[in-house]
Amino acid sequence: MLDKEFKEKIEALLGTDRSSFAPEDLIAYSYDANTEKRAMPEGVVLPESVAEVSAILKLANEYEVPVTPRGGASGYTGGVVPVEGGIIMAMDRFNKILEIDRDNFLAIVEPGVITKTLQEEVDKIGLMYPPDPASTAFSTIGGNIAENSGGLRAVKYGVTKNYVMGLEVVLPTGEVVRTGSKCIKDVVGYNLTELFVGSEGTLGVITKAVIKIVPKPESVRTMTATFRTLEDAAEAVKAIFATGVRPSTLEFLDRISVEVVERAIHFGARPEEGALLLIEVDGPDIALDGDVANIEAACKKCGVITFRKARTEEEREELWKARRALSFAVCEISEDWEDDDISVPISRIPQMIRKLDEIAARHDIIIYNFGHYGDGNIHVGMTTGKSGRPFPMAAKDEVVAAAVSLEGRIAAEHGIGCVKVHNLHWNIDEPTLRMMRSFKKLLDPKGILNPGKVMPKE
Ligand SMILES: Cc1cc2nc3c(=O)[nH]c(=O)nc-3n(C[C@H](O)[C@H](O)[C@H](O)COP(=O)(O)OP(=O)(O)OC[C@H]3O[C@@H](n4cnc5c(N)ncnc54)[C@H](O)[C@@H]3O)c2cc1C
Repeated sequence: MLDKEFKEKIEALLGTDRSSFAPEDLIAYSYDANTEKRAMPEGVVLPESVAEVSAILKLANEYEVPVTPRGGASGYTGGVVPVEGGIIMAMDRFNKILEIDRDNFLAIVEPGVITKTLQEEVDKIGLMYPPDPASTAFSTIGGNIAENSGGLRAVKYGVTKNYVMGLEVVLPTGEVVRTGSKCIKDVVGYNLTELFVGSEGTLGVITKAVIKIVPKPESVRTMTATFRTLEDAAEAVKAIFATGVRPSTLEFLDRISVEVVERAIHFGARPEEGALLLIEVDGPDIALDGDVANIEAACKKCGVITFRKARTEEEREELWKARRALSFAVCEISEDWEDDDISVPISRIPQMIRKLDEIAARHDIIIYNFGHYGDGNIHVGMTTGKSGRPFPMAAKDEVVAAAVSLEGRIAAEHGIGCVKVHNLHWNIDEPTLRMMRSFKKLLDPKGILNPGKVMPKE
């Protein structure tokens, strides 16, 4: 229960239009895209300035009230779900792009800016913000930084951390710190920027970011290649990399995913097609014909069944259709499913898929796999189909354990949140966990910021 005095002080600070403790206002703040995880907050605040964020955190620290920062709430691991109650700090009002500095290839943005808005603004002047999570239309830069989000272009361009040059962060005690700078070369002090990137709102509230942007590539070419087996596709990926071409996107669908999408949208898959690669290259137009020829030759060496190239924007959209359709196509086979997000070294993807087949057989479930092949990042969809049987939750942990057994990671780009806390020690050993706990304690001595996330309780 929130202290009456605490509520009064919050209302005095923000007024009643930017704070609320009414249950009917709070329901909308009780979940994220992982709809299974829900918890009602006891209040919501919408600060507009760094001074307000600082004042709220000082108060919360004094009254020991949990605070959960919230961006677009598109996270998949319950990061914004207030599992220990307290208040939600919604960053909606921090929605300004403060500066786009073309000469220095950077932008200064507030955390509540929608990722796509930044991408569109820099695109207008021939620049690109490369991190491209499939949620760009509704996720925020602050959420992307806090999750170190990946996305569709990571294979060539890297992930969010590669584009964060500096941060302004309000610590749980209310103190404001600034990390990094506008300089590409900067070795002044510890690299604190990366401490906050991927910290899932547990170490500080990001209020401003210096973001690196790059020149927009002149052209993009899109292709799909299908294979009899995922092993053939894996050989093709090796052969593509061996040519020296670095695709900007290298996505895959496994056999079941291809079948599911074919059943839903009839995109022309043949029964013998057991794996699909969606490949894009970008760069100067003059270089791309050569890249496409190299990729086609590599795929042909590895038993490609069909190799399609887009010549127009409409054809490009057509080739993306199968990948984009998967998330709704699964409704054809099930009303309820579980997702996971793991990564393994890319050479181990076929082994991982075999392990997933074994898990599916053991639990009599359907497992379909897709995702970012070029980064070793598999999105694992699991369902009991239309059987009506409850999902065997043990299968989820077996998927994560299988990734760990192949030197993989329990989370690739969706974070730990509150759903994978119990798996953390599978990747993080005791001394490392102790170090993480010391950082947390130093920055957040009373443990008020986003409790119940990332690390298990001591
Ligand atoms: C359809 C769909 C597709 C997706 N595709 C991808 C994908 O391709 N790649 C990928 O990586 N992810 C993907 N995601 C997951 C999700 O979109 C990302 O994790 C995204 O970065 C979350 O951003 P958000 O603004 O919605 O953050 P939220 O969900 O609001 O918050 C996520 C975490 O960040 C913290 N946080 C938010 N703002 C701040 C702040 N200002 N300061 C400190 N902490 C903060 C929160 O406390 C929480 O722990 C997808 C999600 C959906 C629904």
